[in-house]
Amino acid sequence: MKINAILTLALASGALFVAHREEVSAYSLTGIHWNSSAVSYVVNPNFPGAAAGTPTQQVAEVTAGASAWHQQAQVPFDFNYTGTSSVASVAYDGVNSVHYSPTDGNGALAICYWWSVGGVALQFDIEYYAKDGLTNFVWARNPTASQFDIRSVAVHEFGHALGLDHSAVPSASMYPSVAAGSTALRTLDADDISGARAIYGVATPSLGSVFPVSGSAVGGTTVTVTGSNLTSNATTVTVGGIPAIDVTVLNSSTMTFVTPSAMTATGPVNVVLTCNGLSSTLVNGFRFEELTLGSALVRGAVVPVAFNAPQYPGAYYQAVISLSGGGDTLMGDYLDANDMRVLPVAVDELFMWNVLSPSPTWFTNFYGALNGAGHATGFFAVPTHPAVAGIGFRLALCVYEEGAPSGIALISNGVSATAQ
Ligand SMILES: [Zn+2]
Repeated sequence: MKINAILTLALASGALFVAHREEVSAYSLTGIHWNSSAVSYVVNPNFPGAAAGTPTQQVAEVTAGASAWHQQAQVPFDFNYTGTSSVASVAYDGVNSVHYSPTDGNGALAICYWWSVGGVALQFDIEYYAKDGLTNFVWARNPTASQFDIRSVAVHEFGHALGLDHSAVPSASMYPSVAAGSTALRTLDADDISGARAIYGVATPSLGSVFPVSGSAVGGTTVTVTGSNLTSNATTVTVGGIPAIDVTVLNSSTMTFVTPSAMTATGPVNVVLTCNGLSSTLVNGFRFEELTLGSALVRGAVVPVAFNAPQYPGAYYQAVISLSGGGDTLMGDYLDANDMRVLPVAVDELFMWNVLSPSPTWFTNFYGALNGAGHATGFFAVPTHPAVAGIGFRLALCVYEEGAPSGIALISNGVSATAQ
């Protein structure tokens, strides 16, 4: 068995930076790697001083640093925090641990120790130090110009635990020195990412399934995603090409998002996940349900309104819809300029999708802002695609917000459309 200690993160000085500039710009490896996809570790939150925060806050800083590698480099390996510890010294005891030591680092801010056999890592310990000679280190969550960042140093030391040696790239988190006050190491450099991927490869995010698999085209459906290699770093989700809302990664296999409003694109749509430029697509993974006038507005004495405009491809219509009994407050609360829509009716959605593709946006071109008297006028054009002939259209008043628009007593006058 081999035991290694990498001295790290000496206090930065101008001379040190200058001296390293002539070196080859690349990461280097220590030659160890983990044979599992994750290893657990504990943290002794025993940093002294107010700047280090509470024990809970200290743990949060260390774990954020540890997670940086999986989240930012997207390697199929992660460090899993399992709890606090009272261990305050380095020992080959079968437990991966992080702690602060009130001793002199002799030039180091912190050291990562690891044990290995034949290049396979068995254990690591990370020790932060109190001082270098007569200079005391102040460890902090949000360092001032004279303090040191707990999280940044965690990123660096966990990089060693991962199998990375020091990099000659000055902007790398694995560069061997850091200035007081700097939090730059929190963000991995491309060189760090390349190094981590050289050992573990890339964990391509993959969408497995979503639930529920359908929801209203007005959006607002909370969807749970099951997949693999999900990371919270720079993660976006689109549904039918429209960015989802509140994308939340719970862990590497579970995330949630809220569907966007897609009132003009009903039917099956692709769900696309992107993490750090790597994408995964669930073809027709979600279905935007067609809006119906009744579901949105049948409350109390409201009279649904529908009409079939004559369908002549290329024709251009003006339509008018009027409400009564609402008033200004109602209009302001429940209705806006996008609430009037032209929707296809009595058409198979798959057929509709095919007809509309690749330009399903025709149905966005009817907008009418309701005025205080409940009147709105909008314009829309029947698409010129020949296949559209014969499709029924319905003019619908849609309500975005949940909750009964109880102020609507009647939709009067109905809707009319006249060719222009
Ligand atoms: Zn180091």
